Amino acid sequence: MLHVGINGFGTIGKRVADAVRVQPDMTVAGVAKRSPNFEATIAVDRGYDLFAAGEDGAAPFDAAGLRTAGTVREMVAASDVVVDTTPGGVGETNADLYADHDTPAIFQGGESADVAEVSFNARANYDTAVGADTARVVSCNTTGLSRLFAPLQESYGIEKARVTLVRRGGDPGQTGRGPINDTLPDPVEIPSHHGPDVQTVFPDLAIDTMGMKVPTTQMHTHSVNVTLESAPTACEVRDLLGAESRLFLIPETLGIDGAGKLKEYTRDAGRPRGDVWENCIWAESVTVEGRDLYLFQAIHQEADVVPENIDAVRALSERTASAEQSIHRTDEALGVGQGLVQHESEPARAEGTADGWFPGSVNSVPCASNRISESQKALGSVHCPC
Ligand code: NAD
Repeated sequence: MLHVGINGFGTIGKRVADAVRVQPDMTVAGVAKRSPNFEATIAVDRGYDLFAAGEDGAAPFDAAGLRTAGTVREMVAASDVVVDTTPGGVGETNADLYADHDTPAIFQGGESADVAEVSFNARANYDTAVGADTARVVSCNTTGLSRLFAPLQESYGIEKARVTLVRRGGDPGQTGRGPINDTLPDPVEIPSHHGPDVQTVFPDLAIDTMGMKVPTTQMHTHSVNVTLESAPTACEVRDLLGAESRLFLIPETLGIDGAGKLKEYTRDAGRPRGDVWENCIWAESVTVEGRDLYLFQAIHQEADVVPENIDAVRALSERTASAEQSIHRTDEALGVGQGLVQHESEPARAEGTADGWFPGSVNSVPCASNRISESQKALGSVHCPC
């Protein structure tokens, strides 16, 4: 078992800890926090060893009646890998701590790219992180775009990508964020920082991005236009994307018209915290004009990076032979791709095997997403509309 320490137990950290806990090959070495709050209470309730990360050590936790297991240094020493989920910019101040203990460390997208050897997305560049000492799991938006671009690049080639990112103003717990009643170009400068961040994963990709912020806490929404190097049909693109385990093609029949219903759907489906680990692509938005592909996708900012952190742990520790194996193992344990009605093309259905594996159809690659779970069978599969 890999012992994984989580430094910073907030929005991302608590989800990563819960995701580590359900992996067959990992265990939580502990979680570290600076200050006691409801999340520290949850950590203790869930049985995680809580380590003190602030200068005052255990004192603030003692005062709040929360028992600590030691200091963050002790947690790092006891960990095979540390996932740093402290607020953006704080992670880099912890880099020496991890290096002092020779403990491989994973940072988050709030850090600048030079905090780590590799900017990581499991689908796009898993192998570059294998055996590295440090990796940075790219931001929620960059993760969402990387998952989308990887199969498009492999199957059709990408000449140029243009994305407008309509971003949530803050997370539900971020009571101080906004806007409350406005629509902001954010940043006003073009391109926004998102394009260069995607290039930390795809160095040669031509991409322009524009950012906006709107008063919602639900999800980000991306308006995507990709000029491809070849001209597939929209159906072929839907099949390609539908075969990816971390891309959920929202069937038209579900009547999901926005992030609110998406979150409601995943809560109904029994997802922990209503988390949506997958990119959610509106199937009927997938449109091809010549070589230009258009689509809308929604990204759950609190959730999509969670499976990527699990894969990054495996990559750094060199415990899994391939990206596909790690992604499959993570997805199975966490439930990624499960419990949601899947897009499925006719040929894939016809060729499916008795044990529920579908080899995919035109341009698709065999992968875990083609496994149709019992719950999906119960819900019924949705056919490509073409
Ligand atoms: P958060 O503020 O919700 O949680 C951070 C946690 O770290 C808090 O529990 C805080 O008490 C603790 N902390 C603060 N300083 C610390 C220190 N020195 N040592 C140990 N713990 C400390 O932040 P978050 O939203 O979980 O973001 C964490 C990272 O993940 C950031 O880099 C962020 O950019 C990135 N990220 C966030 C989101 C998102 O939507 N929230 C999405 C993707 C990536």
